[in-house]
Amino acid sequence: MKVDLISHTVDCDKMPGIAAYTSCSKKSPIELYKTKTREQTDAFIRRVVAYGHHSVIEHSYFSFSIEGISRACSHELVRHRIASFTQQSQRYVKFDKLDIVVPPKIKKNKEAKKIFDEAIEKSALAYQKLLDMGIAAEDARYCFPNAAKTNILMTINARSMMNFFALRCCRRSQWEIHELAYKMLKLAKEKAPVVFENAGASCVQKEHCTEGEIGCGLAPTFNDIKKGTAKESKSKEYADRMMNQDF
Ligand SMILES: Cc1cc2nc3c(=O)[nH]c(=O)nc-3n(C[C@H](O)[C@H](O)[C@H](O)COP(=O)(O)OP(=O)(O)OC[C@H]3O[C@@H](n4cnc5c(N)ncnc54)[C@H](O)[C@@H]3O)c2cc1C
Repeated sequence: MKVDLISHTVDCDKMPGIAAYTSCSKKSPIELYKTKTREQTDAFIRRVVAYGHHSVIEHSYFSFSIEGISRACSHELVRHRIASFTQQSQRYVKFDKLDIVVPPKIKKNKEAKKIFDEAIEKSALAYQKLLDMGIAAEDARYCFPNAAKTNILMTINARSMMNFFALRCCRRSQWEIHELAYKMLKLAKEKAPVVFENAGASCVQKEHCTEGEIGCGLAPTFNDIKKGTAKESKSKEYADRMMNQDF
């Protein structure tokens, strides 16, 4: 998988601060943009976001090029309805070779890998045979497995990204979208360190696990805190490790 941040709102940290000032100032957004310093806007975003007024961070947009994820992963990704997506078409693109994602646990297991490879080979062969018979790509693709690689352009605002990270940086999410989320988080944090200061899994954002008893155990649950049995959270340590991992 390869993830690049192609484009983002200019001043993606400052713009939400201007939005926050606009709501409580007699000045116009452009006047505020010209007069407010980064120090002022940074401090104001932190305050407003802490109050739970998250709409101001919707003013920052990010466009990611996501290359070589599986169709299984892209199907999970496009469930995030607030984002915008454009995906490589299996109708308009004819594939000479079936590029696939092999799940690491299958890659490591010799017997499982053999079963997997056989299924993929059959699928690729059937696709090619159907194309050779004159069947359109839009129908031949029905032979493709979930493992088939795809490319997708994703544009998303910072508020929606916070929700995406809360769900997909969580260790309970599926491994491929989990890796993707951390790659996106790293790129986003480089460009907007203030907006994404507390971004990450819900246990990072909320300082407790929202999954309750089905959680992974990295962070205390709300009940642990209430009962006074909470252990120290390891969420931030895990997030740092994931962001610096070379997948
Ligand atoms: C661990 C995990 C397991 C999952 N398992 C399954 C599964 O088994 N089956 C399955 O179908 N999905 C599953 N999902 C997908 C999940 O249900 C969501 O569809 C997906 O995570 C997108 O989240 P979202 O709706 O918050 O995001 P978005 O669609 O980006 O929405 C963002 C936010 O906008 C608001 N919103 C958006 N649309 C509406 C609306 N129509 N009405 C009201 N508010 C709205 C909500 O507050 C929402 O949180 C799973 C997700 C995770 C992380």
